[in-house]
Amino acid sequence: VSVCVRNAGQVLRPPEDGLPYLRRGNDLRLEPGAVTVRDGLIAAFEDDPAADVIIDARGGAVLPGFVDCHTHLPFAGWRAREYEQKVTGVPYEEIARSGGGIASSARALAEATDEAVLAQASALREEMLRLGTTTVEGKTGYGLSVEGELRSVRLGRALGLDRVTGLFAHAVPPGVERTAWMDEVDRLAAAATVDALDIYVESVAFTNDDLERLGEIAAREGVPLRAHVEQFNANRSTPVALAAGARSVDHLACLHPDDLAPLARAECAAVLLPGAEFLGAEHTPPARALADAGAICVLATDCNPGTSPVASMPVIIGLAVRRYGWSVREALAAATLNAAWVLGLHEERGSLEVGKRADLIVLDGPAEHIPYRFGHDPVAAVVRGGEVVWRRP
Ligand SMILES: [Zn+2]
Repeated sequence: VSVCVRNAGQVLRPPEDGLPYLRRGNDLRLEPGAVTVRDGLIAAFEDDPAADVIIDARGGAVLPGFVDCHTHLPFAGWRAREYEQKVTGVPYEEIARSGGGIASSARALAEATDEAVLAQASALREEMLRLGTTTVEGKTGYGLSVEGELRSVRLGRALGLDRVTGLFAHAVPPGVERTAWMDEVDRLAAAATVDALDIYVESVAFTNDDLERLGEIAAREGVPLRAHVEQFNANRSTPVALAAGARSVDHLACLHPDDLAPLARAECAAVLLPGAEFLGAEHTPPARALADAGAICVLATDCNPGTSPVASMPVIIGLAVRRYGWSVREALAAATLNAAWVLGLHEERGSLEVGKRADLIVLDGPAEHIPYRFGHDPVAAVVRGGEVVWRRP
């Protein structure tokens, strides 16, 4: 099967083929053209009038499909009540200590059947696809018990997530000592098959010592280390994560100024989550400075029922451009190739190059309209693995 997207006003392409990530997003090129895909792969950047399926881009942009490298799928239910508490002034840490927060999602997950969890997550996955996200990572973390976490891994695989991350160190289960739970995390990491290990370092969760220990566990298991750090406080977890060889540090709203340059120099992505920042009225990370210093900048939705019930990468790009002072190219590099690198998928996804998997989206206008027409759904068509999986009616 072949698909040709023709008459594109812009086709987003890297400055050269084979790059694992872009430290300067503005190196991306946006030029008119066409894309032909064949047998699931990108075949050529030219028109093919004989293609089985022709999509007229009508002057709109063609981009690689978005890669959402930080979500908390699968989860059960939502927490809209807590959002109202939060906007009316109740601090997150207080909500967490009074049995809300992660604990309430853990209860909802435990009470839901596998079928119910998968039905909710599949619907969300479909919504993401229609908004242009062709690759999705998800995490465990709402199981809060050994059995619950193993079930979350299983549900993540059943959902067909492109990557399943073991966030076994998300919250300390009630009635368990933190260090005793880290022993369970160690055993879970050995027992479960996951694509990366992750930890939440914060006053209500885990410490830098736990992060260091998880780094040793990840090295032993041969999987990348990722970490939720500096979200509400400057805990100075970033140097610990860098020393442990982390693939990414995520959040960074309270990154300490002294830790910026070492992070920017490292082969470790700065995964920024403007949905959580915006909905949580959090601090803004030094994103402009990170980009100027050449960090591997990444954007993701952090889609989860507590701090960022957001599924839309176009919305995330709009927030990032405004809050961070990024160009649209910087935001697009962060939402595509750099995000694919975090997941170890950069050789087959994340950019439009001949031979890569044909994951691409067609927009109804130029790429600059994504942040500018904030809240508008710009996605007119989605091709994943060479198949047209969504076309606006
Ligand atoms: Zn998260």
